[in-house]
Amino acid sequence: MTGVSDEESVSLNLLRQKMAEFAKERDWDRFHSPRNLLLALVGEVGELSEIFQWKGEVPKGLPDWEEEEKVHLGEELSDVLLYLVRLSDICGIDLGKAALRKVEVNAIKYPVGMCKGSSKKYNSSSNGNNGSTEN
Ligand SMILES: [Mg+2]
Repeated sequence: MTGVSDEESVSLNLLRQKMAEFAKERDWDRFHSPRNLLLALVGEVGELSEIFQWKGEVPKGLPDWEEEEKVHLGEELSDVLLYLVRLSDICGIDLGKAALRKVEVNAIKYPVGMCKGSSKKYNSSSNGNNGSTEN
């Protein structure tokens, strides 16, 4: 596998290619079924959650965290992203395009004029939002 220079931007497509190459080199394609990848993704979300478990709310930027904790956080965030990218690839979904489309759909669902500063979900009576991108 080739590295990525500091000047080279990281794209979802680059990550997709690297994950495909990684699996092929190890003859792991046969294990990378949609279901297996989904379960692996959920497992990694659990590992990510463990990092925050019992800490209560933490300030943005994590100013009080040790460097070692931040490195670990970056690793688990990466595991989640890489399995998500791989799952999307195996399912034939262009994740970048799908995500951009979802942002557009959410912008329609949550018009600025009706939702700004509100945390209510789109289908609530006051038609606000909760800052999420769900559904
Ligand atoms: Mg992990």
